[in-house]
Parts: sequence; structure tokens; C-alpha cells
Amino acid sequence: MSTARTKVVLVIPSSERVKVLRTAYSPPLGLLAIGASLLQATKNTDVLVLNGELYSTENALVEDIVAYKPNIVGISTNVGCYKTALSIAKKLKTQNRYLIVLGGPYVSTMWKECLKNRPYIDYCVVGDGEIPMVKLSNGVPPERIDGLAKRDFLGEPHLIPQIDLPLDSYPDPDWSLIDARVYQEAYRQTYKQADAISACINAMKGCRWQERSGGCIFCALLRSKLRQRSPERVWQEINRLYDKYGCNHFWELSDTIGCDIDWLRRFNSLKPNRPILFKGYLRASETTQESVKLLSTLGYNEVFIGIESGDNAILKAANKGSTVALNKRATILLRDAGIKTFASVVLGLPGESRQSLQATYDHVCDLFENGMNTLSVCIFAPYVGSRAFLRLLDDEKIGGQYRGSDVFDWPLFSRLWVQTQCICEWSDIAEYNKRLSSIPSSLYEDNFSYVEKEYDI
Ligand code: SF4
Repeated sequence: MSTARTKVVLVIPSSERVKVLRTAYSPPLGLLAIGASLLQATKNTDVLVLNGELYSTENALVEDIVAYKPNIVGISTNVGCYKTALSIAKKLKTQNRYLIVLGGPYVSTMWKECLKNRPYIDYCVVGDGEIPMVKLSNGVPPERIDGLAKRDFLGEPHLIPQIDLPLDSYPDPDWSLIDARVYQEAYRQTYKQADAISACINAMKGCRWQERSGGCIFCALLRSKLRQRSPERVWQEINRLYDKYGCNHFWELSDTIGCDIDWLRRFNSLKPNRPILFKGYLRASETTQESVKLLSTLGYNEVFIGIESGDNAILKAANKGSTVALNKRATILLRDAGIKTFASVVLGLPGESRQSLQATYDHVCDLFENGMNTLSVCIFAPYVGSRAFLRLLDDEKIGGQYRGSDVFDWPLFSRLWVQTQCICEWSDIAEYNKRLSSIPSSLYEDNFSYVEKEYDI
């Protein structure tokens, strides 16, 4: 009987953008979750998780992957690291016949294009990575694995979609697969909190607003139903991280924690008597007296809200499901509860004009006067997976040029978007971007500066 072990490396490449907020202290939670499933469900599998952000060069990362002698390399992809993922995959395939599997949000949308254009990619996981990776590692034939996109006998991309499982059916992320202290130190430095021991958790996947309405025009979240872990399971995970590592600052990564008030009530009612603080995301429309009170009791000290624009017509065109008045109400409620508001605006939403840009500027000033603490500003980019991306590709000329591609020049796409969807000039957007990001306590989220690098993909 063979005792050969399957060795799996799970990799998150470094971001191609020069400045990305929060990457330094965000561990690759999705990979820790897949790693946990692999270790629990497969007897003969070893797992290594590597984060490209912690390497000074891509080649150093590739060397560590090769040194592990893996059978399977799973590489996570998102809009900020897809080209790097391809570059790593190509280098690996040139050296050895590793099985290369891409997963994550980018290829969950672009799996057809990826498999058509990149012969060195064997498979793409579409949706949750846990079960497809476990089956692959257990030697199940790829054609019998739902959620694993592959080429058929004619070389055409083919996928049998997987059914979304309840999140409670997966094991919790396995933190023993990384050195959590690296991320915790980065968190302490960023927040200047010497006593903070941080961790990330994810209570939900999906968004009720997207489920109900199709979601915001820029939303690149994979279209699926909202799935929630039970409040009991989330507390179990938090308590374990508290007991084992002393974690006391939790970054809750759900797209919006307020989308189900019953869930929030139950989560709150189970809170143990422990000094735990939270940060997380919330929609302005879900920021009510009750949700804020619950968050305050839970120990939330900062909430991230996409206010996006100070013009109701623009918010409507972006299908944001929010208004200027709701943004203001949210800021005031959070201020009164002693919770910091970190808001973000996006310039260049459909129909943007000089008038709406000025309205956004005025709105931001008003919110700062009413207790908002931090603002992040970025210029819109119609990323893969969003309805904006599809709308841009619907343009005959642009679509004709880019349909079928799997890599895109995002700064160029931003400009094409403004040209075709806004009623102002690029220079107007740039002017307001500069004005807004010069307000004290504003951060500019740089969509346009990429690490200078030639990709051999
Ligand atoms: S962008 Fe956020 S709020 Fe909008 S649909 Fe997506 S997850 Fe929901």
C-alpha cells in the first residue's frame, strides 16, 4: 500500500499595486480555511501557506514553493494580484509538472478566459475552495469535482458548478499554518496600540443587498446567496483565538455585519465577559439605533462605511441603496456611541459631473464636522466581476477589443469608464481626488500606481 503523502502549497501573491491599505496585517484567511479543510479531511496531506507580501521578491517566493516539493500548488487570485499569480504559475510549470490550481474571486469570474489563454494553469476553483481542493488532493478525478473548472477533451473550458454549502459545515481557519505574530505586529504598528493582539474572522459570505437588488454597480463579489455562520460557531472561534493566542482585537471581514439584525442580536446575546474589541464593515442603510447599540455593546471601536458620493442621483445610479441623509445619520449614530467611522468615497460613478463631485466634497466636509474620523478616497475602476465591468465591455468598441482577455490595464479601464459613463472630464475627477485626499484624516487609495515590473505571462 502506498504511503506517499500529497503536499499542497497554498499561495497568496503580493499585490501589484504600490499602496494597498490593510494588506500588511491581514493574514490570508481564505487559505487558512482551505488549509484547515485539507488537514482535517485528508489523512495523507501536508499543507504549507505562503504569503507573497512577506517576500522581498517573487523569485524568493517561487524558491520556497519549489523547496517544499509540492504535488499541488493552489494560488489565490484577486484583481490586485492576478498577473503575479500567472507569473508565479508559469515559472513553476517551467520548472516542474506541479499541478497548478488558481482560485479566489478573480478566476471565479474569469475561469473560462484563464483556461483558454493560460496553458500552464491546470484548473480553476470557482467559488469555495475547500471541497474542490480536498477532493483533488484525495485523488478524485478532476472531471468528477464540482466547482473545479477544467478543459474538456476538445480543450474547451468546462465547469460543473458546486452547490454552496452552509459555512458551519467547514472547519475554522487553521492559524497554526502561519506565524500570526508577523501580522499582529503590523497591526500594532498601524494602530499604535501596544496591547493589541489582532486576528481576522469572517462571520458571513455574501450581501443581502446584492441578493435583493443585484448590488452596487462596482460590487465584484461573486453572485451568491448570503451565507452566515451561526453566532455560536463564531464565538467558538473567537474564544479559541483568545485562549490560544491572547487575541483581543478582531477584524470582522463580512461585507456588512448589519444585514441581519436577528443574527446580530443573537451574536450580541452570546457575548462572553472578555475584553474583546472589533472592527468591521457596515452599510449606511443598516446603521440604525439598534444596530449601533448592539455593535457598541459587542465592543466595536471602528466601522467602515462606503458613503461613495454626496449626490443622491449618483448613489441611485450606482444602485448603492443609500442616500446622503442615511450617510449622515450613520455618522452621527456611530459618533454618539463612541464608534469611529472610517468612510470611503468613489469618484467617477455613473453620471458623475463637476456638480456631483462638489456635492461629494461638501458632504464629506459635513460628515467630518459631524464626527466622521477617517476618509479613504479612490477613483472608480470597473473591476472584473462587477456589473460596471460588464457594462464597459458592452460598449461595442471596448468590448470588441477586450472580450476574451483575462488581463486588463486597470488605470486605462478607469479612464475608459470616465470617458463613456461620466459627464465630466478625467481632469475634474483628478482635481477632486486631490482636494478630497488633502483634507486632514483622508487617505488616498492608489488605484493607479503599480509595482514597476514586466510580467512574463
Ligand atoms: S459593494 Fe458591498 S454593499 Fe454593495 S452589493 Fe457588494 S457587498 Fe453589498
